[in-house]
Amino acid sequence: MGLRPNLLARRAAGVASTTLALLLSTAAVGVVPAASAFSAAPGASCAEPTDVHSDARVKKGGTAKHDPNELTVKQVRDREADLAAALRERANFRAGAGATTLATVTIPVVVHVIQRDTTRAGGNIPDSLVTAQIDVLNQAYSGATGGAPTAFGFQLQKVHHVTNAAWYPIVQGSSAERQMKTSLREGGKNTLNLYLGELSDDLLGWATFPKRKLDSMDGVVALSESLPGGTATNYNQGDTGTHEVGHWLNLYHTFQGGCSGSGDSVSDTPAESSPAFQCPTGRDTCATAGLDPITNFMDYTYDSCMYQFTPGQASRMLTAWNAYRAA
Ligand SMILES: [Zn+2]
Repeated sequence: MGLRPNLLARRAAGVASTTLALLLSTAAVGVVPAASAFSAAPGASCAEPTDVHSDARVKKGGTAKHDPNELTVKQVRDREADLAAALRERANFRAGAGATTLATVTIPVVVHVIQRDTTRAGGNIPDSLVTAQIDVLNQAYSGATGGAPTAFGFQLQKVHHVTNAAWYPIVQGSSAERQMKTSLREGGKNTLNLYLGELSDDLLGWATFPKRKLDSMDGVVALSESLPGGTATNYNQGDTGTHEVGHWLNLYHTFQGGCSGSGDSVSDTPAESSPAFQCPTGRDTCATAGLDPITNFMDYTYDSCMYQFTPGQASRMLTAWNAYRAA
């Protein structure tokens, strides 16, 4: 499949921004990088409820005290055990009912635009940004941007504009977030509910991982101005959506677990010790084989830098789909 010209331009921009990133980091000597906030043991000092099955994306320089959703070793172990149990459950179900395992999946998408008022500054983004986001998802998950093709395609069902100042910004983990999702969420386990708005703590987005029993918190939250053509500089090509949907389909960050252990539970993503920001070409933080996967959608680099999933990630997402989200 050939690359579309705009995608080629985008990848070229990623290369160009590397130089800028290096210059910026030279100029930042003496400044405590925001990334240092992530060097602490995941979950060690934050107030994340143990029951949160979600994950987030943050931007360099964000003021978030912690990534609300990086997982501890125990949380990963529990999630992997649950995936194995869900797969056994499905296998038994299939043996009894003759259900088939899906190889390609079209995911219905319901978009909720949360706004304070009807102005752009108040969150009222044009629907053209939403359709551009769906295009970005389809390009990313088909492999058209340069990565492995996955089983997934996305089909927009509707765009629902909701004016409610109490949900603006959307505060991760708040009772208002729960109220918002409880009143707005539509569809079954296979329906992607995408909530767009201003977000708390400089977050770009967060998502829930799949669970065996659907609950109303299921879905993806993303900064509305992270959509393609939005105003979030360096993060406005729609890859916050791509990244968060990756979590919704059961992917961890590429830096999950650091250099040791099973990392992100995917064998073809080289380990990295911490999130990469901007576009640090050649970064290599672990003694194990391979450079850091900075161009992977599940890292924290600029949108212009990330353009791929691996075959292992594609396989993990499809396995999880059939375990958790397939009808
Ligand atoms: Zn994330």
